[in-house]
Amino acid sequence: MTAGTLHVVATPIGNLDDLSPRAVATLRAAAAICCEDTRHSRPLLARHGIDKPLVALHEHNEDAIAARLVERLLAGEDLALVSDAGTPLVSDPGYRLVRAAREAGVRVSPVPGACAAIAALSVAGLPSDRFCFEGFLPAKPAARRARLAELATEPRTLVFYESAHRIEEMLADARMAFGDARRAALARELTKLFETVLDGDLAMLHERACNDADQRRGEFVVIVAGVGDAAAARLAEGRRLYARLVEHLPPSQAAKLAAELSGAPRKALYVSEDRGLKTED
Ligand code: SAM
Repeated sequence: MTAGTLHVVATPIGNLDDLSPRAVATLRAAAAICCEDTRHSRPLLARHGIDKPLVALHEHNEDAIAARLVERLLAGEDLALVSDAGTPLVSDPGYRLVRAAREAGVRVSPVPGACAAIAALSVAGLPSDRFCFEGFLPAKPAARRARLAELATEPRTLVFYESAHRIEEMLADARMAFGDARRAALARELTKLFETVLDGDLAMLHERACNDADQRRGEFVVIVAGVGDAAAARLAEGRRLYARLVEHLPPSQAAKLAAELSGAPRKALYVSEDRGLKTED
């Protein structure tokens, strides 16, 4: 018996016409379609005349269900995997199923298409030859700030996903960690009716999000330029000064002084001796 194939199929991130003819053909030919939320995928499938059994596969049941799906694949069925929007596995479920299928020797084949990170990168006007996909930052402020501080010296362009209810806080924290002047872009509602792509420095983008309610609605990709050579040198100097000053001063005073002397963003200076990054809260 020849095993079937697991087709990993990208779906639109907004505009429903962004489903490729090959994606439609693959979904039509599959024995069943695994989707995150069957209620969400059904309208897209119906629009393309696809009427197949749907299997719900989400982060809470993926481990449990992957083994059964691999059995079906081994028995010769072709299955398709989609997520609510864009490319499965990119900040979406599917990794465990793909790994289980590959471990069982099942062929896993992509049907590429929309991905919000790549779509945003393609219009941001920031260096895109090397980039670092960070997905969603931690929801808790202290963990989010620590992660951003760790990324302050990253030379590659950074790509983040963010939701409407945290975009303002995220931009405020990014501004603190990377400095007001760092170049960035805010890609909102890509391929949808109210698509906007703003670019400028982080101070400008944060102020825009604070003052314009539209810029706090919808779905966002935030792209931040990597640290340049001059900024990297300021950060290195700031961290060196902080390490010396914190031996004699409370951390907040040491960071304030080191930031003033070096020109580096204050929040990026809280590097602890071991590896973690300290934040104020
Ligand atoms: N798998 C998807 C992909 O390939 O892009 C990403 C899924 S992730 C759960 C959803 C996040 O992607 C949103 O919170 C937002 O940050 C980003 N996103 C999805 N669609 C978007 C769009 N049309 N415009 C801007 N960002 C979008």
